[in-house]
Amino acid sequence: MIKDVKVYFFPFTLLLALCIFTQSAHAKLVNNIEQFNNAVAQAKPGDEIVLANGVWQNVELVFKAKGTAKKPITLRAQTPGKAVITGLSNLSISGEHLVISDLLFKNGYTPTGEVISFRTAEDELANYTRLTNTVIDNFSHPERHLADLWVAMYGKHNQFDHNTLINKRNRGVTLAVRLNTAGSEENNHVIEYNYFGPRQVLGANGGETLRVGTSHFSTKNSNTLVRYNFFDRVNGEHEIISNKTSGNTYRGNVIFESQGTLTMRHGQHTLVEGNYIIGNGKPNTGGIRIINEYQTVKNNYMSGLTGHRFRGALVIMNGVPNSSPNRYNQAIEAIMQNNIVVDSDYINFGAGSDEERSAVPIDSSFSNNLIMTNTNPDSIKLYDDVSGIDFKDNIISDQANIPGELKTGFSKVAYALTKNAQGLKVPAKSLVDKIGFGDIKLPVNKVQTGADFYSKEEAKVAFQSGKKINVKSGSDTLLTALKASNPGDVLVLENGGEYLLTKLASVNHPLTIMAEKGKKPVIRSQKPSFLVIENGGALEVENLWFDGEQSPDYKGNNIIRTSGYSMNINYSLSVRNVKVTNLDINGYFDFFKATANTFADYIEIIDSNMTNITGSILVLNHETDDLGIYSVENLTLKGNTFKDIKAEVATVYRGGFDESTFGPIVNVDNNTLVNVGNGTTHRSASSMYFHGVQDLHIANTKWEKSAPLSLYLTNGEPITVIEDVTMKDTPKIRANNNEYTTKNITYK
Ligand code: CA
Repeated sequence: MIKDVKVYFFPFTLLLALCIFTQSAHAKLVNNIEQFNNAVAQAKPGDEIVLANGVWQNVELVFKAKGTAKKPITLRAQTPGKAVITGLSNLSISGEHLVISDLLFKNGYTPTGEVISFRTAEDELANYTRLTNTVIDNFSHPERHLADLWVAMYGKHNQFDHNTLINKRNRGVTLAVRLNTAGSEENNHVIEYNYFGPRQVLGANGGETLRVGTSHFSTKNSNTLVRYNFFDRVNGEHEIISNKTSGNTYRGNVIFESQGTLTMRHGQHTLVEGNYIIGNGKPNTGGIRIINEYQTVKNNYMSGLTGHRFRGALVIMNGVPNSSPNRYNQAIEAIMQNNIVVDSDYINFGAGSDEERSAVPIDSSFSNNLIMTNTNPDSIKLYDDVSGIDFKDNIISDQANIPGELKTGFSKVAYALTKNAQGLKVPAKSLVDKIGFGDIKLPVNKVQTGADFYSKEEAKVAFQSGKKINVKSGSDTLLTALKASNPGDVLVLENGGEYLLTKLASVNHPLTIMAEKGKKPVIRSQKPSFLVIENGGALEVENLWFDGEQSPDYKGNNIIRTSGYSMNINYSLSVRNVKVTNLDINGYFDFFKATANTFADYIEIIDSNMTNITGSILVLNHETDDLGIYSVENLTLKGNTFKDIKAEVATVYRGGFDESTFGPIVNVDNNTLVNVGNGTTHRSASSMYFHGVQDLHIANTKWEKSAPLSLYLTNGEPITVIEDVTMKDTPKIRANNNEYTTKNITYK
């Protein structure tokens, strides 16, 4: 069974090579699950079980063994990354002194709740076990709202290092430390040098990248050390890291252009030290959020963070008096010191203050921090009484408006930043020295993290990055071209051409359909939908004319919709300079409909003209379970004319009271609505209906002879601004409360 020792000489690291070489006499190459199971059953201290290169399809690997500190038992790939675990597969581990390395999980998902589990049964845990140099890439369940964990750490004294976890697309935490039994408490796990790569916006709660504990075990000590990891564009939801147990340390991590914050959601005695959080002005990027007792936040560097409310660069929250475990404990004895915050929009004290969250922070301090920012003069925000926080010896740039309650504790200096060799924005050295910060330098670089055999380059395909393909007018010529297209291609239709679809046209990758400026080609279809965006698809249409004249005489047609199946890859839809006519063959003929379990990063309709429609323009209300799930992150309507539309121009729905997400974000600018929303059968009797939108801006828009604009404002302190609009022969704005801002509304 001892084969192929030459592979051990690959120089992935000298130390590891040496180590494996000395153990190679006990290496057992296994070619299938039976051989693997036999090898595991016979494994003795010092043995190595080597997964043969190739595809390991539909395998549930159970690695249950006992090594010793001096002679661990190893499970690894024959060549790093060449034993590919795919299909319905997972790995569970228990025992002690085990090492797992060089594995690649790709093109599949776990049939259970975990991809890699540090236990094989409730009471069979892994201890003193190291998982290293392993990759999980898009091992995502096809149902985007079905939850699983990619890595669940149980047991004690385990190490998770140099692993790459990228593209988790379904719900569920990427890496969770679990404390379900006493055998997992005070675990002293070390999580270091991992690369947490891009994670798309989930559009619901449950998109955390790292969670340590759960509220149920929050009073237990976990004592987990999380250091020198690189979090790269992890945008799942607003908790990037969710700390939910006591005694944990987060040191020297880099969080790069990621939406959300490191949140001390539950648990006490957390140390957050020396982390670098770099937002580069990206939307919803946040820093560190404090809840609960005895939390220390020091020597962190935060730059270019734009998040507001719970997502500020530094946030200390109000608690709930006598809080239940799953709500918010009061912040007591929080220490915030020696942090540097540059060009960030918000530092929030007493955030979340409301009737329930009325316990203000006490016995806390905010001292020796250096704040250098000119992005928002009102960056220091007080949401409640801050007399329980001692403000001392902070330095702040002189544009800042210090709230009157903070009479002392800040000295002002001129705003000045330079870029250092690493491209980080730095204040003058004298000021940095004054707070005793030390060198401003990334504690870890991207290249030092993750599995060494796996690229960190993204394979994402941009619109119009492929070939331009001319499509002649005629019956199904567009369909044929679509089928033959490749990701990023541009299908160019003939000006003035006529195109007919006799079948559903699926869009399976990023694709552009357009015509050059000039007479728009017309597209008609004999099917209930013209174009269907399937998983992995994204669509741009430009300078086209969609006409409903040949559509079937049934209710509920549409021009574009998303898949009838769950889509675990976010899509986008861009509609520019498009004409839409005669969607009136029967009732409820919509322009676009998003089906449930699909999510758009953005949808935009720009400079378009749509008329004579029996349904809606955009139907984005199919997530109706009131669990905080919604359909689109960013919606833009700009420069359009909508006329004779029986239902809404847009209906966007985000129900429930969850506070874990950022969107939907809606921007309506410079549109004209004439006779919109007056159909007698549609439910909302509105021209636009926005329910639970978190950020809504409507400007420079005219309504005429239309149904009212309807707003339903829910939790999350949504920002709602309506300005410079005219409503002629149109009822007043309808809303469930008056917590929105209006400027210059003219009713005629
Ligand atoms: Ca969450």
